[in-house]
Amino acid sequence: MKINRVGVIGSGTMGNGIAHVFAQSGYTVTLMDINTAFLEKGLDTITRNLDRQVKKERITESIRNETLQRIETTTDLNGLEACDFVVEAATENRDIKFQLFKDLDKTLKPGVILSSNTSSISITEIAAQTSRPELVIGMHFMNPVPIMKLVEIIRGHVCSDETVATTVELCKALGKVPVEANDFPGFVANRIIMPMINEAIFTLMEGVATKEAIDEIMHLGLAHPMGPLTLADLIGLDVCLSILNVLYEGLGDPKYRPCPLLKRMVAAGDLGRKTGRGFYTY
Ligand code: NAD
Repeated sequence: MKINRVGVIGSGTMGNGIAHVFAQSGYTVTLMDINTAFLEKGLDTITRNLDRQVKKERITESIRNETLQRIETTTDLNGLEACDFVVEAATENRDIKFQLFKDLDKTLKPGVILSSNTSSISITEIAAQTSRPELVIGMHFMNPVPIMKLVEIIRGHVCSDETVATTVELCKALGKVPVEANDFPGFVANRIIMPMINEAIFTLMEGVATKEAIDEIMHLGLAHPMGPLTLADLIGLDVCLSILNVLYEGLGDPKYRPCPLLKRMVAAGDLGRKTGRGFYTY
């Protein structure tokens, strides 16, 4: 099936970035969210990011305008009926995603691939909600989507080779680099980065060093673009905790147990940048 029209579900942090890159690569995009306020916020972000690209002379004014013209919005899942490919980037919640995939399966034409940007929910379980599990795949974009090159491609237990091949080609058409992984808790990126962040929090809790020292050692000593505590604040401490819980429960190994300090900060509502306070104050 030739892919011209792409449906993107969720216009939050990831969804608006995903809609942006598809539209800029020439695809017609239908962006869906539960209400118009979220859609307007998503479109505002896309517009601001495109304006920044124009200012930095990465794209022309006419590419900016054409990109925006290719994005339509809807609050109704039936508005995605004509799409040839779907990327789901709704809130990280099993019930929400399971219901969405049940509904998408009924709404989308037979043969349409349904992908999910989930960070931690099993692609195999999401696929099992549909009558087309061989056409369900993980397409794990990285944040910020317009800038980050990688897309982790997650093959569910019964995902077909054809679905993987089509999705890989699509990523390349977006100028991204697809890398394949199998469906295990946390896939690859989070399975490796989250224990590192967790260990940095244990290191802080045990008084081994200050937060600034921990971040500077990892930043300067290991050439990480930012230290692990700064990164945790950026990702959101609630998101870090939920992914660590998925690793802990899914793999059953105590090495993934979330640090008590992380749990305490989440309980207190200190979630990082998004709440103005995490390890640092914003
Ligand atoms: P977000 O909270 O910024 O946005 C989620 C959006 O989904 C919201 O606008 C919400 O209104 C919408 N939504 C909720 N239920 C919906 C429904 N039934 N139909 C349509 N829209 C619905 O979340 P996000 O950070 O963009 O995360 C989205 C997905 O991407 C999650 O699965 C997350 O795990 C994954 N992800 C996030 C990051 C990250 O750094 N934030 C990175 C990689 C993957």
